Amino acid sequence: MATVHTVTGPIEAEELGTTLVHEHLQARDEAVLAQWPHVNTVGLDPDPVDVPPDGAAATAAAAARAAIDRGVKTICDPSCMFLGRNVSLMRAVAVETGLQVVPCTGIYTYDHLPTFFVSREPDAIADLFVHDIEQGIQGTDVRAAFLKCAADEPGMTENVEKVHRAVARASLRTGVPIMAHSRPASETAPRQIEILEEEGVDLSRVQVAHTGDTDDLDQIERILDKGVYIGMDRFGLELFLPFERRIPTVLALLERGYAERMFLSADSCATIDWYPREVDEQLIAAGMVSDWTMTTVHDRVIPALREGGMSEAQLETMLVVNPRRWLTGETPAAPRPR
Ligand SMILES: [Zn+2]
Repeated sequence: MATVHTVTGPIEAEELGTTLVHEHLQARDEAVLAQWPHVNTVGLDPDPVDVPPDGAAATAAAAARAAIDRGVKTICDPSCMFLGRNVSLMRAVAVETGLQVVPCTGIYTYDHLPTFFVSREPDAIADLFVHDIEQGIQGTDVRAAFLKCAADEPGMTENVEKVHRAVARASLRTGVPIMAHSRPASETAPRQIEILEEEGVDLSRVQVAHTGDTDDLDQIERILDKGVYIGMDRFGLELFLPFERRIPTVLALLERGYAERMFLSADSCATIDWYPREVDEQLIAAGMVSDWTMTTVHDRVIPALREGGMSEAQLETMLVVNPRRWLTGETPAAPRPR
């Protein structure tokens, strides 16, 4: 049986259990944190036992406990460079709550890269990712279990392509899978997949995140035809696609036989510093963000999918079997019979 690295050490793949494949315990700008630490609520705490009584770690622990109460055993946390990856915080929350947290490595950028990366080749960038996977993250012995890259509105810029190629090469060198943030409104996925394929990546180890931000079934099926997994992973982010359109999309894809290719998650962030508080409040007041939490899959999505005819076997496939297969590469799902 394969093992999977979590922030508290390796576990048997069978122990993953119910897994939300895309949830952030914290999302913040690490440059702001480093340069203006006075706006910090919790820093890179070297002592995993020392969880501050309030602040980001406590908020993340509360979110983790709420998810555990609903039967979640594991989350994959795709926070990497530029999302304020903080492996000490992840480990503190995991130790305190018992939630299994699977960390990653990679770079989350829509275009900008520091000169350090602009001046280096993809193989040199892959070396850093491989270090996180084989040695450990941020000076710890916590090993990354998947790779992250992103493409968004600017499309496949030179820098974004470089990150995709570096991620692909690190995946080939280590065997860990890839999560690629996509933007359906800009149809970024086909070129992202093409680059990974050019590099020789087995596409059954690739997850195209945020595919559920569209209900264009033709666009989604073109992606699925490549043999990748797709993330139906932003329930609560109404601004990208309302809940009422996300649910029928999942149901239609289940009907077409794609249970073995989908993940359910919310892309929630227990804390996020992207917007001033008043903007957060405006987004919520306007209904553009609604119950965007680590519990929304269990509280709202699963009941709505059951109501629409999803079977318990399909649910188990999406929440338990697919995360295990994607993380370990064990027996990829058979292609859908036509
Ligand atoms: Zn995310």
